[in-house]
Amino acid sequence: MRRFCYRCGALEAEKGPLIQGLCQRCFASEHRLIRAPQKTDVSVCKRCGSYLNGNRWQVPSVTGATSSEAAKAAVYQALRLAKLTSEGLQFTRVGEAKGVELRLEVKPAAREALVEIHARGKIHELQTEPSVDRALVTIELKQTTCDVCSLISAGYYEAILQVRGEERLPKGEITWIRKMLEARAGEVSASDRSIFISKIEERPEGLDFYVSSLSLARGMAEVLKKGFNAEISETAKLIGRERGGRRKFRVSVLARLPAGIKER
Ligand SMILES: [Zn+2]
Ligand SMILES: [Zn+2]
Repeated sequence: MRRFCYRCGALEAEKGPLIQGLCQRCFASEHRLIRAPQKTDVSVCKRCGSYLNGNRWQVPSVTGATSSEAAKAAVYQALRLAKLTSEGLQFTRVGEAKGVELRLEVKPAAREALVEIHARGKIHELQTEPSVDRALVTIELKQTTCDVCSLISAGYYEAILQVRGEERLPKGEITWIRKMLEARAGEVSASDRSIFISKIEERPEGLDFYVSSLSLARGMAEVLKKGFNAEISETAKLIGRERGGRRKFRVSVLARLPAGIKER
């Protein structure tokens, strides 16, 4: 029996295997590889340039590349690729689609970015040539403030590091100790931006660092202990209860420096 395409009549013997009754060409024109919305959006932080990828705030890998990276991330979230198997037509996420070549061209702009998606891959395994598809998605860049920047701007802190001297600390010492501890905090913030110094107060008797995490306060105190034999102590003050009833404390870490320390 000679099998032929029910749409155009092409013979299977001449044009290759039929897929669900369609010849290769009719199958390809009937099914699109790309499924993507015409328009979607992504939240970007107007303060620090990070963007919301799924449910996580992400810092762009290249400084200043927020809009193009955010737009690509939004496309990866929204894009699905068609796959037809014996179980029917499925739309898989980019990470799960195998054997599909994907290329994104981004034209970034301030409020909206335009992304052109180029995809090449087989929708059905009987296809002799992969399908080639193209789609255009407009990404609205929604200007907002990320979680961390909200905390910073609200002056959030979880712990206080108090630096004091056995005697009153001279002004010069306060300056270099401050720089040294800021540098230490900067290293930590670089790998985890939810850890930061919220506020620094220079007092006649020493320095107060308001920091977003107890681990940072302890880490900074450790620098003074290792380098200058500072004596470390901690006190906790009950500041209320969290939802669910757990008690919430604010911890003060006190680092007391011996007299006569020298910058090194
Ligand atoms: Zn046909
Ligand atoms: Zn931010």
